Amino acid sequence: MAETVKTEEKVEKAEKQDKVEKVVVTKKYRKPSKKKVCAFCVAGEKTIDYKDVAKIRKYITEKGKILPRRQTGVCAYHQRELCTAIKRARNIALLPYVGD
Ligand SMILES: [Zn+2]
Repeated sequence: MAETVKTEEKVEKAEKQDKVEKVVVTKKYRKPSKKKVCAFCVAGEKTIDYKDVAKIRKYITEKGKILPRRQTGVCAYHQRELCTAIKRARNIALLPYVGD
C-alpha cells in the first residue's frame, strides 16, 4: 500500500513539474504576429497627397508625432513620402506641429 502511495506522489510531482515547464514555455513563446502590409502599396498609390488630411491623420499620434514604421507597417518608400506629406500639411496648418 505504502509503495503505491509513494509512486502516485511521484507521478503527481512529475505532472506538476511538467506543468511548470509548460507555463515557462508559454511565457517565453511569443505568438507570431500577422505581418502588416503597407496600406499605400495595397491601394496602389505612388505619391501621398499632403492635402488628404483624413488619410494622413492615421499616421500621427495625438501629440502630432509621426508614427514609426514598425507600428503602422508602412514600407520604407511610403514612409518617406508620408513624412514629407505630413511636414507639408503641418506647414500650411492642416496638421498640428504640437497636439494637445
Ligand atoms: Zn508602401
